Amino acid sequence: MSIPLLDLKAQYLSIKEEIDQAVLGVLDSCHFILGPNVKAMEEKTAAYCGTKHAVAVANGTDALVLALKACGIAQGDEVITTPFTFFASAEAVASLGATPVFVDIDPVTLNMDIDQLESKITSRTKAIIPVHIFGQMVNMDKVMDLAQKYELKIIEDAAQAIGAEYKGKRAGAYGTAGTFSFFPTKNLGGYGDGGMVVTNCDEIAEKVRLFRFHGSKTKYFHEEIGYNSRLDEIQAAILRVKFQYLDEWNKARRQKAELYDSLLKPLADQQKLILPGKDPEAYQVFHLYVMRVQQREKVMEKLKEAGIASAVYYPLPLHLQKAFAYLGYKAGDFPEAEKASEHALAIPCYPELTLQQQEEIVHVINDCLIQS
Ligand SMILES: *Cc1c(COP(=O)(O)O)cnc(C)c1O
Repeated sequence: MSIPLLDLKAQYLSIKEEIDQAVLGVLDSCHFILGPNVKAMEEKTAAYCGTKHAVAVANGTDALVLALKACGIAQGDEVITTPFTFFASAEAVASLGATPVFVDIDPVTLNMDIDQLESKITSRTKAIIPVHIFGQMVNMDKVMDLAQKYELKIIEDAAQAIGAEYKGKRAGAYGTAGTFSFFPTKNLGGYGDGGMVVTNCDEIAEKVRLFRFHGSKTKYFHEEIGYNSRLDEIQAAILRVKFQYLDEWNKARRQKAELYDSLLKPLADQQKLILPGKDPEAYQVFHLYVMRVQQREKVMEKLKEAGIASAVYYPLPLHLQKAFAYLGYKAGDFPEAEKASEHALAIPCYPELTLQQQEEIVHVINDCLIQS
């Protein structure tokens, strides 16, 4: 039995007829850019998140760039984020000429450490990007308190967290803006790239609309230097179909995670591994099920021998990336992020995963760690 980290084929087959029809519908219409599917997808996302606006863009990275630019982030500004995330969270800041400033992570949730956040704020700080890592939201009450106290913009990087909640409010709905990615492996993934910015602010929504279309409101008349960054109609049509299943799929991910938690508890009790940490106020959607294991390489090898995929998110924290060497950080600056990078291990946790598969995965991990 071979078990992938994510089974996109099984998911496609479960909704193939609807997807095929949606794609053929776009081909038949020959309306490929900024048409009815994008509009409907925007309306659906705004309603789902509980925000006034949603503006679709080409990918999750552009969603961050355009949202930051719409918030006025530019050269000389500092933006605080976590070093334990996908590169794009900080790349977006740097691509606007602003400076990413990192804060270490909380060792339980692996999200940015809220208690250290205030100490990173300077007179040049303009924004914070809380990243809801692996589908568990950051403590947004505390982030929003700081935002108010220091007049900062908050851009939630919710690429991994569509449908996640903190105190009953959805990811993307807390900040000045929230951003999503529809990369194929995300909880709501297209069959190509895609992204979305959500916001309650009319001005930010209007600016993101302007920036995604070459700074233009009227074709061939340009008010600003912008980008070409649109979600295309085919992706929007696919995403509209998949959106109907998102809550069901997120629930299934949570059930798989819960089962892992109980099956792996004996190993956690013996301190052979650390289970994913929980914030009781957060409704987590398990983009990934990430545990921490001292003997990670050995476990990965045994899983591989058994035909089971596993992966490291993230092997190198952002402050130690070559691309960010100019920021001047060094090893030891963010010890919790560095430790997490050494021990984090994601095992398969997707809606179509079966009980038998989960038992087999746990069996292999057990065999490997009990002897050691
Ligand atoms: C995937 C991801 C992004 C980037 O999204 P793309 O659609 O791949 O550009 C940004 N931030 C985080 C945390 C992500 O996981």
